[in-house]
Amino acid sequence: MFCEHCGQEIPDAAQWCSACGTQATVRTTTTPSRASTAGAAPAPELRDSGAVTALSVIGLVFGLIGMLGSFIPCLGSLAFFVGIPAAIASAIALAIAYAQKAKRTFAIVALTISLIGVVISGWQYFSIISAGEKARQQMQGR
Ligand SMILES: [Zn+2]
Repeated sequence: MFCEHCGQEIPDAAQWCSACGTQATVRTTTTPSRASTAGAAPAPELRDSGAVTALSVIGLVFGLIGMLGSFIPCLGSLAFFVGIPAAIASAIALAIAYAQKAKRTFAIVALTISLIGVVISGWQYFSIISAGEKARQQMQGR
């Protein structure tokens, strides 16, 4: 081949022109790979864990029942006893997820829903205990 710069004939394998020193070929292996710099700091891959998913599903289902039930007057107190196992199952799922470095988003969602149900129904549960007291006070107020 011939040098693009000065026209001197140079060997095909030559990377540099022997006459003028111009780089003879662009088909070098020094092409910078952008892929290696783009993904320089990849997030650690989180695995799916069967145990975490199963417990999260249990926590989510019971948590939803507890949360929905907690909005129903009187039944809300019963939801307290559904929400607690749901929260426990979700908490275990979350603990396993952290221990196994598995995906924990599902467990966090399940735990949040469970806890919302427990808090609301728990508040109802304790308000029912003092409901008679409150009712009497309201009766006296009117
Ligand atoms: Zn040259």
